[in-house]
Amino acid sequence: MPVFNFYGPETFRLSWKKFMKICDREDESAAHKLRKFVEQYNDRHDKGNPQITFDTLLNMPQKECERCEELFDNVWRVKYLSDVIMKSCRSCIDEDKSKGLVKRVLSLVG
Ligand SMILES: [Zn+2]
Repeated sequence: MPVFNFYGPETFRLSWKKFMKICDREDESAAHKLRKFVEQYNDRHDKGNPQITFDTLLNMPQKECERCEELFDNVWRVKYLSDVIMKSCRSCIDEDKSKGLVKRVLSLVG
């Protein structure tokens, strides 16, 4: 399993602990929240713009992941083991795959 680390100074420790507590309360892993943050950040910034422009919003409506209810440029139709089909973001697909819940990724939502 790939592992990613990042540096945090000692002064960041309390913020990190609080973040972990909140994640625990919300029953979502810190790793999952961070992956979602990075993917959303990439979606919003990889066209070279520091901010979303109005044109970008008009031309690229974001789609909701039905698993985490966050907005992404790209979500996929995923068939789960229960044969339910949901629109999921990359990090939810990865998370659900690691739990063995995904039967098949069907297609990118256009
Ligand atoms: Zn998601």
